[in-house]
Amino acid sequence: PTVAAETGPRIAVLGTGYLGATHAVCMAELGFTVIGYDVDAAKVARLAAGEVPIFEPGLEELLRKNLESGWLSFTTDIDGIAGWADVHFVCVGTPQRAGDGGADLRYVDAAVDQLIAAGLAPGALIVGKSTVPAGTAAGLAARISAAAPDVELAWNPEFLREGFAVEDTLRPDRLVFGVTPGGAAEARLRAVYTATIEAGTPVVVTDYATAELVKVAANAFLATKISFINAMAEICDVAGADVLELATAIGYDARIGNRFLRPGIGFGGGCLPKDIRAFQARATELGAGSSLAFLAEIDAVNLRARQRAVTLTRAALGGVVAGRRLGVLGAAFKPNSDDIRDSPALDIAAELAAEGAQVVVYDPAAIPNARLRYPSLTYATSVREAVKAADAVLVLTEWAEFRTLDPAALLPHVAGAVVVDGRHALDERRWREAGWAYHSLGRPSGA
Ligand code: NAD
Repeated sequence: PTVAAETGPRIAVLGTGYLGATHAVCMAELGFTVIGYDVDAAKVARLAAGEVPIFEPGLEELLRKNLESGWLSFTTDIDGIAGWADVHFVCVGTPQRAGDGGADLRYVDAAVDQLIAAGLAPGALIVGKSTVPAGTAAGLAARISAAAPDVELAWNPEFLREGFAVEDTLRPDRLVFGVTPGGAAEARLRAVYTATIEAGTPVVVTDYATAELVKVAANAFLATKISFINAMAEICDVAGADVLELATAIGYDARIGNRFLRPGIGFGGGCLPKDIRAFQARATELGAGSSLAFLAEIDAVNLRARQRAVTLTRAALGGVVAGRRLGVLGAAFKPNSDDIRDSPALDIAAELAAEGAQVVVYDPAAIPNARLRYPSLTYATSVREAVKAADAVLVLTEWAEFRTLDPAALLPHVAGAVVVDGRHALDERRWREAGWAYHSLGRPSGA
């Protein structure tokens, strides 16, 4: 690492959220001198103190190691990075904007404008990693070259999965470089990612628009896979069939594959839902709205899964949840994360609470975030506390801690042995044998 840190490009990372914090730490781990920059002073202070503000397995150890080596630091001072770095990775948020569901680009614009205003080093490279609509990079490139003619822009979308962010950043499935022909950006990106490329990671070098589209197309495909199997679950419910067996059977076809084909309460988080909406909005702006009209259905099936879980819970309790006590296991949108953005688990919990149920939520990592977003729900500090005297237990995020629960050991604590498995995460036979009434979407409940 010492060699690259002393001779390799100096790297700045703008935005130190889920993506940026991971990227900054991993770039330092790859041996570069890295400064992470964010406008959120509290976040920067925590990172500088060796504390990861998010739950991400393995990140804190690497953060501390690289802070101690001196190659990694964090700042809120744009002047501390603008003229210093050779390569600026833009990792700021691109949330859903109100109205048409398009992407809100104000943070990307602001980050680039701040860099330009503070003065970039001659020959610097700006690398966009945030997920943006097709056409964004071309617009930014024009702005950059008007202000700083020798500064280049590349688009290098990020595909990391929360919960596996470190692994995915150090060993990604592929690298995508959106560049302009004839520039130096490709060679410079290859230099930054040398170790990754030498480890065998394929590189796709393409234009800006394709690079931007690769990211949203990948997310649209993944969302489609999940909603496809959830639509099959709806059909299984009315046909009296079993969606888990169906998923296993179709997944044996290598063209289909069994991954991302688990039926349940659907996808959430800070990426898939907003990305498919922003993709549709952009397609409409480009006059090709009908090409992505199917994504509206993907979104609708996904949101319907949450409603179906509410209906299933109601039915499992004899038709009414008002006044009943529900132990909800899971708040994060997925396991091994504290991210609750657009979380199906919390949406369902809030809906049941709105119907008058007494909902008690437990999650191994996401309670602090959940409490901020849903202050009126009740939170527990353990599974045991959440299920205490519950009339039904709902498993809504498939944390290992929940998958491996001993159903017999829980029995003495609950008021009713009713379990709703929103993620097909539990060993159904084991729960039934322990005396629980087991319910899940897309499967015959009496089986
Ligand atoms: P996040 O909200 O966790 O982080 C965004 C950060 O940007 C925040 O810390 C915010 O304070 C900071 N910021 C805002 N304006 C800034 C500015 N002008 N200068 C510096 N910092 C600024 O969001 P995230 O989940 O890390 O997502 C960031 C981008 O990466 C989005 O476009 C997202 O779609 C994309 N992405 C995210 C993931 C993921 O798993 N989270 C994966 C791939 C791509």
